[in-house]
Amino acid sequence: MKRFILVHYGEIGLKGSNLQYFVKKLQKMIREKLQKKFKKTFNPRHILGRFMIPLVGKFEEKDYIEVLKRIPGLHNFQFVYEGGIELEKLGKDIWKNLGKLAKDESLKTFVVRVKRAQALPHSSCDFEAKLGAVLLQNGIEKKVKLKNADLEINVECFNEHGYFSYKKYNGLSGMPSNSGSKLVCMISGGIDSPVAAYRMIRRGARVIFVHFSGYPYTDAEEVEHVKELVDILSGYQFYTKLYIVPFGKIQKKIATTLEIPGKLRVVLYRRMMLRISEVISKKNAARGIVTGDSYGQVASQTPENMFAIHEASKIPLYQPLISYDKEDIIKIAEEIGTFEISKLPCKDTCSMFSPKHPELKATAKDAQAAEKHLDVEGLVAAAVEETEVVTY
Ligand code: ATP
Ligand code: MG
Repeated sequence: MKRFILVHYGEIGLKGSNLQYFVKKLQKMIREKLQKKFKKTFNPRHILGRFMIPLVGKFEEKDYIEVLKRIPGLHNFQFVYEGGIELEKLGKDIWKNLGKLAKDESLKTFVVRVKRAQALPHSSCDFEAKLGAVLLQNGIEKKVKLKNADLEINVECFNEHGYFSYKKYNGLSGMPSNSGSKLVCMISGGIDSPVAAYRMIRRGARVIFVHFSGYPYTDAEEVEHVKELVDILSGYQFYTKLYIVPFGKIQKKIATTLEIPGKLRVVLYRRMMLRISEVISKKNAARGIVTGDSYGQVASQTPENMFAIHEASKIPLYQPLISYDKEDIIKIAEEIGTFEISKLPCKDTCSMFSPKHPELKATAKDAQAAEKHLDVEGLVAAAVEETEVVTY
């Protein structure tokens, strides 16, 4: 019996005349990620608002699940059999392929769910009841339960076939990768910024990464750590780039300029990071900067300090985690596979040259006054000049 992966997309289904644009992006992502994993050709076909991917020969569902679970824009998917469209034939096909499930005693209840995209002699409800009756006649030892059944048999009728499966998997949802404009994400080695990047990738933004390394005052391990994080995140989109900016000299300059109050350092570091990110953003025609800030989480994230930091640039800032609790951020980091790396101890730029008691209510005026003692433009230009780019 022919097998397919049947994929439904989510939110893009609400698009009007530009639906095809989003469909093509999703199609490309599905095709390329499967080809990369299995080293053979795949042709996801778009049929009546869903994708059908033919499966040839033996296959391991779990290998496919691993790929499809990481594709934004994908609402759900199932490994379907191509059954007949007539009641009798379809009922038999479903029964025949139930295999071990028919006898599985942990599955005490079942339901048949039918969706149609072609005209049929019965309504979907009618079809569901009749297919259920066929299974009962054949001896399925389970009770019918309409809500939360242990075994949900999904049937979709189109193209003169009833495509059925015994399990539906949830996808990531969101929007297809690279369907939106570019954004630059400031990524540290911490827990939050990789999650922030992921949330924006999941909305379709193509995220370009910028990391400020403590070089020459930190070791190579810090950068390796960030490269690993970006490698994981690159699995969710195409064409990933990471800019590594040596930031140690700027930090040292700020920390050793006697006229600059120690309390203001963190705010000044962040203002410099933002300015450099803005230059990189312009170079890439990106439309904004993403950070992993969460309201009130650490000293740099009081509204006063964020106000003073953001004042240094004109570009829109995206802070997708602004209202998230730390535990919710950690949960996502675990799901996407970044937590294990982020939680490793690492000497980073933030811990270097940081004051014991940072200002909690800095003002833009204080920051500007302090920056009078720095060659801001020169420092920004030199850091941009020394930037290294890694592509994935
Ligand atoms: P994270 O877990 O992402 O490190 P955090 O809660 O530790 O965040 P901060 O260290 O104050 O908070 O950083 C706030 C945001 O500033 C980060 O989420 C990130 O977007 C950006 N940022 C901080 N340090 C760096 C860095 N070294 N390189 C790039 N971006 C950074
Ligand atoms: Mg941090």
